[in-house]
Amino acid sequence: MSKNPVHVIGGGLAGSEAAWQIAQAGVPVVLHEMRPVRGTDAHKTDGLAELVCSNSFRSDDAENNAVGLLHAEMRLAGSLIMSAGDANQVPAGGALAVDRDGFSDAVTAKIEAHPLITIQREEVPGLPPQDWDQAIIATGPLTAPSLAQSIAEATGADALAFFDAIAPIVHFDTIDMNTSWFQSRYDKVGPGGTGKDYINCPMDKEQYLAFVAALLEGQKTEFKQWEGTPYFDGCLPIEVMAERGVETLRYGPMKPMGLTNVHNPSVKAYAVVQLRQDNALGTLYNMVGFQTKLKHAEQVRIFRTIPGLENADFARLGGLHRNTYINSPTLLDPSLQLKSRPGLRFAGQITGCEGYVESAAIGLLAGRFAAAERLGQAPSLPPATTAFGALLNHITGGHIVSDDEPGKRSFQPMNVNFGLFPPVETPKAEGKRLRGKDKTVAKRHAITSRALADCRAWLGLPVRAEAAE
Ligand SMILES: Cc1cc2nc3c(=O)[nH]c(=O)nc-3n(C[C@H](O)[C@H](O)[C@H](O)COP(=O)(O)OP(=O)(O)OC[C@H]3O[C@@H](n4cnc5c(N)ncnc54)[C@H](O)[C@@H]3O)c2cc1C
Repeated sequence: MSKNPVHVIGGGLAGSEAAWQIAQAGVPVVLHEMRPVRGTDAHKTDGLAELVCSNSFRSDDAENNAVGLLHAEMRLAGSLIMSAGDANQVPAGGALAVDRDGFSDAVTAKIEAHPLITIQREEVPGLPPQDWDQAIIATGPLTAPSLAQSIAEATGADALAFFDAIAPIVHFDTIDMNTSWFQSRYDKVGPGGTGKDYINCPMDKEQYLAFVAALLEGQKTEFKQWEGTPYFDGCLPIEVMAERGVETLRYGPMKPMGLTNVHNPSVKAYAVVQLRQDNALGTLYNMVGFQTKLKHAEQVRIFRTIPGLENADFARLGGLHRNTYINSPTLLDPSLQLKSRPGLRFAGQITGCEGYVESAAIGLLAGRFAAAERLGQAPSLPPATTAFGALLNHITGGHIVSDDEPGKRSFQPMNVNFGLFPPVETPKAEGKRLRGKDKTVAKRHAITSRALADCRAWLGLPVRAEAAE
C-alpha cells in the first residue's frame, strides 16, 4: 500500500483540520501554506488557521442550534480546530469565542509537532502536479490569483464570488464604561460566560436616527471592477442593512432586547451596539455585526458618535473582500473529489460553505476521505441526518436549482442550518400534538439527538445516552 503523502494546499481552518485528520489516520501529509511568503488581503499573521474577522465560532448549544451541533460532532471526530478553540475560549455568553492569537498558535504548534506532517511555506501557483495523486485544495475565499485562475480554467466554469466583510476592533481602555455596561443578552451565561460578557452602548431614538442617516451618507469604498458581485446575506455590511430600511438595524445587530442599562435602568435603550471580547487579556473588543465598507476615516468619524465610543481607539477597522468559490454541486462528487480529476479534492469555504466552523468541518471530511483512499479503503460518507452529512450534501448535490434563479448563481454559500436536515416526525408530549414554539423546540431536539446518535455510529463510537453528550 502506498504511503506517499497527501498534499494539502492552504493552512487555514479547512487545510489545518484536513492535515490533522490525515496524519491522525497514520498517513503522511505535506501542508503547503503560502504565508508569510505571500499574504492575502485579510490575513495579518503567518499563523495557521488565522481567524480573519470575528473571533466567534457562534452558538455552542448542541441541542438547539445547528452550528452548536456541528461543534459537538467535530469534537466527537477528534477535531483539532475544536480542541484548540475550547482551549482558548474567551467569555461570550452562549457562543464559543476564542482568543484569536492563542487559538492560531495552538493549531500551529500541534501541526508543527505532528511527526507525520511537513509544512512547506510556499505558494502553489497552479493545480497540483499529477504526481500528487492525493491532494486537497483548501485555499479559501482569498485563493492566490494564479491558482484561482488555474481552477477556473480546469473547471471550465466562471468563478463564482460574493462579498464578505470585516468588523472593527476597539481598544477596551478607550471605551467609556460610565455610559456603556457589561451584560449578555437576557443575562445568558452560556458555556464559558458569566452573563456579563458583552459591552453595550445605548442609543436613544434621536441618536439612532442620526446614526442611520450618517451610515447612509458616509463615503464607501467602491468596488467598480467587481460590480454585480452579491453580498453574503449572513454578513451584510451595516450600511447595506441601513439601506434596506430605517428599522433594519434595530431588528438586527442593534436590537435592544434583553438588555437593561445599569446607568439608567428605568429607560429602555432604543438601540444598542454590542462589543464582544476579542482576546484573552480582555484588552480588545470587536463590534458585533458591524462589518462595513465605509472608508476608514468615515468609520472613525461615524462610530465615535456611538455613546460610549466617543474616544474609541480602533485596533483594526472594517473592510470588504471578494470571496471566490466553485460550483461544487456540478463539479464535485459526494466525497468532495473533482469529478474530472479523481484524487483531487476541495475543502473549506472555496466549496461554497460559509463560516469558520463549516470550513473546518468540510476540511475534516476531506481529510478523512483522502486518508481512507490512501489506505486503500472507500471513503465513508457521514449519514445525511448528521450536521456533517447535511452540510456535505448541500455542497455536493443536495442543493436544488430554483426555477426563479436558474443557472450557476443559484448555488449560494451556506451556513449550516436546520433546513439542511432531513425532516423528523414531530414528537408528541403525553400523546398530544405540540404547537408553536414547543413544536419547534421539540423538532430541534429530535433532529439533534438523532444526529449525535448517527454521528457516533458513523465514527464507530459507543452509543451513549443523549443526556451524557
Ligand atoms: C473578509 C472575510 C471575513 C470573514 N469573516 C468571517 C467571520 O467573521 N466569521 C466566520 O465564521 N467566517 C468568516 N469568513 C468566512 C470564512 O469562514 C473564512 O474565510 C475561513 O477562514 C475560511 O476557511 P478556509 O480554510 O476555507 O480558508 P482560509 O482560512 O482563508 O485558509 C486558506 C489558506 O490558504 C492559503 N493560500 C491561498 N492560496 C494559496 C496558494 N496558492 N498556495 C498556498 N497557500 C495558499 C491562505 O494563505 C490561507 O492561509 C470571512 C471571510 C472573509 C474573506
